[in-house]
Amino acid sequence: MVWVGWIMIQINVSQFLKEPIGSERDYQVSDSVNIMDNGSSSMVYGNVKLTRTNGSIIVRGKLNTTVELVCARCLDVFGCPLKLDFEEEYLPARDIVSGDFSPAYDEPSLFTIDDNQVIDLTEAIRQYALISVPMKPLCSQDCSGL
Ligand SMILES: [Zn+2]
Repeated sequence: MVWVGWIMIQINVSQFLKEPIGSERDYQVSDSVNIMDNGSSSMVYGNVKLTRTNGSIIVRGKLNTTVELVCARCLDVFGCPLKLDFEEEYLPARDIVSGDFSPAYDEPSLFTIDDNQVIDLTEAIRQYALISVPMKPLCSQDCSGL
């Protein structure tokens, strides 16, 4: 693993895109993300691995974060730890070589490498965190309620 230091949640892949297909690069992530749309931001940290494919970059991440939730029993706000294990494919918004626009990708779940050749993990992290939030969050398993 190549240590590249703690990075923001936006990764510039302009150099990585020049590497051969199959190249991998590891990053450490440490940044705050506004996950719950309630104004509070959550610290997100962990590892991501980028893999260069023929026409995209696969991002695999193992990240940890804590979101503020309201306990379903006692209604107290507490910090709920979440583990995010994600894998997403990032397609270039433009063809990397020619600079032409690549064919339209209609599927809304797809993420893109933007025109500045930056991968922004924020939205993927937000989506994975939101589906990891428990339906009935409890501040502790033996919360006695109100
Ligand atoms: Zn509680």
